[in-house]
Amino acid sequence: MNTNTYIDPMIYMEGMEAIDSPIMDQVLAATADYDYDRYTAAHVRAALAKDTIGLEDYKALLSPAALPFLEPMAARATQETRRHFGNSVALFTPLYIANYCENNCIYCGFNCKNKIHRARLTMEEIDCELAAIAKTGLKDILILTGESRHMSDVEYIGEALKIAQKYFTSISLEIYPLNTDEYRYLHQCGADFVCVYQETYNPVKYEQMHLSGPKRIFPYRFNAQERALMGGMRGVAFGALLGLDDFRKDAFATGLHASLIQQKYPHAEISFSTPRLRPYINNEENNPKDVHEPQLLQVMLAYRLFLPYAGITISTRERAGFRDNVIGMAATKISAGVSVGVGGHEEEAKGDEQFEISDPRSVTEVDAAIRAHGLQPVYSDYLWTENIDGDLRNHAS
Ligand code: SF4
Repeated sequence: MNTNTYIDPMIYMEGMEAIDSPIMDQVLAATADYDYDRYTAAHVRAALAKDTIGLEDYKALLSPAALPFLEPMAARATQETRRHFGNSVALFTPLYIANYCENNCIYCGFNCKNKIHRARLTMEEIDCELAAIAKTGLKDILILTGESRHMSDVEYIGEALKIAQKYFTSISLEIYPLNTDEYRYLHQCGADFVCVYQETYNPVKYEQMHLSGPKRIFPYRFNAQERALMGGMRGVAFGALLGLDDFRKDAFATGLHASLIQQKYPHAEISFSTPRLRPYINNEENNPKDVHEPQLLQVMLAYRLFLPYAGITISTRERAGFRDNVIGMAATKISAGVSVGVGGHEEEAKGDEQFEISDPRSVTEVDAAIRAHGLQPVYSDYLWTENIDGDLRNHAS
């Protein structure tokens, strides 16, 4: 690499807000110390015998020694999920309004070096797409843009949110990380939840995977959830792209990161996503490494047992049978009627797809699958209301 152009991933770029938080150092130190091979079946049994799963127990549950214990872990996770979420499973769908990206993440088909079909929806097209999605009965939407401040600026996203407010009671964002004041602005425009995935918590691997663009800056991404909460967002989601690096360490770091944020912001709704690396455009030989379904299930169960009140979303990257099995056991939220092209709900998708989905079922089909498992599909478990003073307040419905 040309040292003249070298960008240190630990140094903030101009304009990136640095907050004073010890959480990143705590997570990186604990993750470096985590040696999952030192945990045995006895540690796993001892963890499962406890009423409350502590950090050491969580380490044991994520270790290879816990793989033969998936059944008792699943039984305990089902109890915890039922205790904290009843029999409800929340439904949502993602809408990509753009797929421009300024980053070069070598594992992603949307990266700025890939010659894919880029697009950005107009406000009219966004309205059309959102109206079509709302007709399916969904009230919870996730808006995604790819990560280009230039092509999908904060104002553009804000205008899209104002339209989304007409149709949806909960609006989440999966966009490039922002500064606190920008999160505050988008919260005022209607967003209440922010998803930012660290991909890997190994800074060395992170640097190797993120060759250029703002995403290369590890701490700015790491602290995004805190900035979002400081900006007034109701909740935040965490995730590592399992298979990109050592998935046990990445899952451990993800859970610890989420738990430290929860301790610091007790009012925040915390959620996990558990994406596995998928084949992608122009690099089909890159497949998920050692994270097969049993390992993925182990991670989801460990999250549930460590943070029993945290939401867990199961992605359409997974096949329908797996998704249906984990709802009610660990997962509390499931996507349906998914298009991962730009648009694609009312009109044909304008841009290429970021990854292949494994579960193409419609909202009606996923609704039926949830009911077939004796669970209750929930379309709206959260509402925005405005109090008489004009302050925005949040109320669970
Ligand atoms: S993972 Fe996200 S930031 Fe990276 S190239 Fe893909 S869309 Fe861009």
